[in-house]
Amino acid sequence: MAIDVGHSPDSPGAISASGVPEFAFNRALSHALVEALASKPDFKPVLLTLSANRGQTPLTPRARAEQANALGADLLISVHHDSVQPRDLTEVHKHGKTFRYSRYAQGYSLFVSRDQSCGEDGGLRLALPVGDALQTRGYRATGHHAEDIDGEHRPCLDPVRGIDAFDRLAVLRHARMPALLIEAGVIAHPEEEAELAKASAQRRMAGALAAGLVAWRQEAEG
Ligand SMILES: [Zn+2]
Repeated sequence: MAIDVGHSPDSPGAISASGVPEFAFNRALSHALVEALASKPDFKPVLLTLSANRGQTPLTPRARAEQANALGADLLISVHHDSVQPRDLTEVHKHGKTFRYSRYAQGYSLFVSRDQSCGEDGGLRLALPVGDALQTRGYRATGHHAEDIDGEHRPCLDPVRGIDAFDRLAVLRHARMPALLIEAGVIAHPEEEAELAKASAQRRMAGALAAGLVAWRQEAEG
């Protein structure tokens, strides 16, 4: 399987309420997921960004999918952390620096593309057991990507499990295997950021994701 560590040091994605780049959160959770899968013999996780990208030009989302294809990976999970639309961010100035935060949304989101060559429900079949595993462990989905606001409008496929369609997302669409993007939580939310930054919380989330992936594989083989 391939784990795509979202973004890169040079292009770090969203910025948290306390000013930490998303990439740092993505990397920490991806490593926690590798550890959570270490005891599961069916998974041989390969980190896309870190293995292939050291000192090179950052991979585009499409190149990440193509790398997963070249590896012959049987599933792809792209690890991200979330923010909200710029209009919902509040600006504060502290110690000569500018920070932006929001309590508009919190929780995780799962994105799948219905435009995958492995079939339009390949990503959804992967997302369903992952969403179940998160729900049974008390995680709640943010609904803000499906809201009727500029920059969102994602078709919601499963409101309880927090699965939205993001058909054109290149890292999903160009993957030949079932692919899923997780926004593990909203780092623009100050209290949620503090939780997401804890190693214990990263291990817990990784354990939930691993359990979901195991359930998916059992279902696929059964
Ligand atoms: Zn991201």
